[in-house]
Amino acid sequence: DDVLLNSLPHPCRILLFVNPQSGKGQALTLYNSHIQQMLNEAGVIHKLIITERQNHARELVKDVDLSQWDALVIMSGDGLLHEVINGLLERPDWEEAVRTPLGILPGGSGNALAASVHYYSGVSQVRGEELLVSCGFLLCRGLVSHMDLVSLHLSSGQRLFSFLSLAWGFVADVDVESEKYRHAGAARFTVGTLVRLASLRIYKGKLAYLPASRGRHMDKSLQNGEAACCRNPASCLTQTLEDDFPNNTCHSNNSLKLRRSEGRLPRSAAKALPGPPDALLPPLDQPPPSDWVLVPEEEFVLMLAMHQSHLAEDLLAAPDARLTDGVIHLFYVTAGISRSALLRLFLAMEKGAHLDTNCQHLVHEKVRALRLEPGAGKGIITVDGEVVEYGPIQAEVHAGLGRVISG
Ligand code: ADP
Ligand code: MG
Repeated sequence: DDVLLNSLPHPCRILLFVNPQSGKGQALTLYNSHIQQMLNEAGVIHKLIITERQNHARELVKDVDLSQWDALVIMSGDGLLHEVINGLLERPDWEEAVRTPLGILPGGSGNALAASVHYYSGVSQVRGEELLVSCGFLLCRGLVSHMDLVSLHLSSGQRLFSFLSLAWGFVADVDVESEKYRHAGAARFTVGTLVRLASLRIYKGKLAYLPASRGRHMDKSLQNGEAACCRNPASCLTQTLEDDFPNNTCHSNNSLKLRRSEGRLPRSAAKALPGPPDALLPPLDQPPPSDWVLVPEEEFVLMLAMHQSHLAEDLLAAPDARLTDGVIHLFYVTAGISRSALLRLFLAMEKGAHLDTNCQHLVHEKVRALRLEPGAGKGIITVDGEVVEYGPIQAEVHAGLGRVISG
C-alpha cells in the first residue's frame, strides 16, 4: 500500500550515523562485521559518523549540507532516528530537508522501525543480526517511500515530531525501567514487562481523539469551505496540508505566512516553528473540538499510539499499520484487566494476535489526532521510546511527510 517514490541514485552517497552505545554497545562491531563490506560491494559511498553523546546527531543534522548526500542512515535504535528527524524539522529549510531519504539499520535494543520496514516488505519476521543483514539489503536496493510523521505538542509549548510511538502508562514505564537491562538487547522489553506486571498499577487521565473516518469527512467539508472554518479559523488556512500530499509542504508554508500575518496563531503553535502547522489541533488549554471522541473511562493501564507496525523487534503492536496510511493506531487498555490477561495480550502481540484475544479492556481506534491529559502527579510519557516532559500532550498525523528507504 505504501507509496513508492523512487530509487536512490547509483552510486549513492550516504551519511551513516552509528551510536556506539546503543543496544549492547555493539553497533560499531556490527557495522564492521556485517555492513561495511556490503555497502562497498553495492557501490554505496558512505561517510561514517560515530555519535559522541546524546543530541550529537541532532545538532549535526541541523547544519549539514544535505545537497552532498542522497540519504541519511542511522545504525542504532529508534532513539537516534528520533534525533535525526527532529534535527531535519528544526532547520529553516525543513520542507526540503524532511524529504531527505532516511535509512535504518538495527543496532540498538529498540529497533522498531527496522522491524516495521522489514515487515512491510512482506518477508517473515526475523530478529537480531538476521534483521540487520536484511535491512542492509533493503538499504543497498535503495527504494524510497513516503513515511507518516506525527507532530506533538507538549504543555510547555515545545513541539516535536515522532515516527513511531507515543506511550503512557505500562508501556512507557517498561520502556524506561528496562533501560537497566539493556545488556540483554531486545529481550530487555520482555524482562521489563514481567517486572512491571508484578507491580501493575492504574494511571488516571483523560483521553480524546479525532477518529480517522471523521477526519476524512472534515477534510471534505474544509475543501468546500464549509462549517469547520467557523469552528476553527486557523484550520481554514491549513486545510490543504494533508489533502494534497505529497506536495503538502508548499501549501503549509503559505498558510503559515498567512497565519502569522493575521496575528491569530494558536498558542500551541506559536513556539512550534518551523515544521508544518497542525490543522486539527486547538491550543492545549482549550477543549477538543466537538467532533472529537472523549473516552468515557478515566482509569487506564496503558495508552499506546502507534504510527508503525512494530513496537519492538518482536512486538507487532499494529499489524495493519503501513508507512503512509495517514492514521495513528491508538490502543488503550482500561483499568480492571487482570495480570494474566495483560500478560496474554503481550504474548499474543509477538505475532500481532492481541486484537484476536477478544480482551474487553483493549480498545483499538484509527485516529488522525489525539490528546492525553494525565492526572496530577508524576509519570512517564515516551515518544519513539524517549522520555518527554510529563503532562498534557496532543498529536496530529502528517501523512507521508517524511521519506524512508524501505522494501
Ligand atoms: P537503544 O535502542 O539501544 O536505546 P537508541 O538509538 O535509542 O538505542 O539510543 C539511545 C540514546 O543514546 C539516544 O537518546 C541517543 O541520543 C543516545 N546517544 C547517541 N550517541 C550516544 C553516545 N555516544 N553516548 C551515549 N548516548 C548516545
Ligand atoms: Mg532507544
